Amino acid sequence: MSEVEKSSTLICLKCNVPLKMQTNKFSYLGFNFNTEIPTCPRCGLMFLSEELVKGKVTEVEKGLEDK
Ligand SMILES: [Zn+2]
Repeated sequence: MSEVEKSSTLICLKCNVPLKMQTNKFSYLGFNFNTEIPTCPRCGLMFLSEELVKGKVTEVEKGLEDK
């Protein structure tokens, strides 16, 4: 996933420290995901890119249609 690699170099605007990849649970539009998200090790801020979220939602929606 090149997008995730790119976002691993993000810096928290509050703490000015680089975000680290961390497995987090989050929910979006009623879908629950367990995925690696760039997270600030200091304040816990998660960087959810729109692309990441859309990609995950598309994955889930495809999975639902297949059933
Ligand atoms: Zn922070």
